[in-house]
Amino acid sequence: MATVITAKDIEALIARGEDPNRLPADALLTPSAKDVLRDLANRRLPGLSSPVAPAASGAPVSTAASVFPKAVSAASSPAELEAFFQSPQMEALKEQLCDIGRRLWQRAYVDGNGGNIAIRVADDLALCTPTLVSKGFMKPSDMCLVDLEGNQKAGRKKRTSEILMHLQIMKRQPRAKATVHCHPPYATGFAVAGVEPPTCMIPEYEVFASVAIAPYRTPGTPEMGKLVADLVDKHNTILMANHGVVSWSHNDVEDAYFKMEILEAYCRTVLVSAQLGRPPQTMTPDQLKDLLKIKQSLGIPDPRHGLKECELCDNADWRPGVVCAIPPKAETQASLDPDAEALVRAVTDQILSQKR
Ligand SMILES: [Zn+2]
Repeated sequence: MATVITAKDIEALIARGEDPNRLPADALLTPSAKDVLRDLANRRLPGLSSPVAPAASGAPVSTAASVFPKAVSAASSPAELEAFFQSPQMEALKEQLCDIGRRLWQRAYVDGNGGNIAIRVADDLALCTPTLVSKGFMKPSDMCLVDLEGNQKAGRKKRTSEILMHLQIMKRQPRAKATVHCHPPYATGFAVAGVEPPTCMIPEYEVFASVAIAPYRTPGTPEMGKLVADLVDKHNTILMANHGVVSWSHNDVEDAYFKMEILEAYCRTVLVSAQLGRPPQTMTPDQLKDLLKIKQSLGIPDPRHGLKECELCDNADWRPGVVCAIPPKAETQASLDPDAEALVRAVTDQILSQKR
């Protein structure tokens, strides 16, 4: 099986003074590894950028206006929290929340005031979207700062009631740096039908998303949050039955949003392929294993990591074209046993004669 080469591997290679262009012919390069090679070719090899935004780590802010000699936390004083909330780093993240909200709305992934977004900005603090505002038209000044219990620490608008679910994800999954919740119609259609999208059809979906379905509970309740949180150890994208989708990312909020684009495009594609009258062609378990290797090297969870080939690509629940278990009427009549038919007629005649 091919070796997966990540950006870190290439970085290590360069550090050892080896030639990164001399990789094994069958090596599989991750997208970030390809970027590094491209940068090298362009003779502008930078230090690899950290996937973590500086402010998202909750690190002290180093501006003149800063009042943070140490990292802030939920226990910081109200004045410290307010200054943190107004800091340039937070302002940049507020702009990013507006940007992601606009993209969710433009793609029709949210409706009315639906959907919400959160970014972890310290171990026990998150920046999030407000309640009762369309995600397509938010302003940076609408954003809220909350602790992981949902207590609002800063912001003039009230935080979304669904924040509890985002916070439960962050509590249960320490790697979660950002969360996005929305109602993309195709993916939500799968969630309403209770059908987990089939696998082994599109590489991006296999590499970047790990999907599971959580049962329905009233949105915003602790029970709903718990059912979602129970799944985030091995999944980064949760279909919420009769509701929508929530995703988390170990990188940043844009990456959490990308999960939505990837999932929604995938669900649309699967539905189109199901209508073409031919069984969908799937990749082989061996091909899937290569993708799962890349997924693992990117630090993305998947319950299939370490499974045997024979257990991969199991789409037993996915039967496109099966719309109804009851055969059409003509078929029912044709297949009736003649004796049974005579009996039904006799009983019917008897009932009718009694009615007269
Ligand atoms: Zn919702």
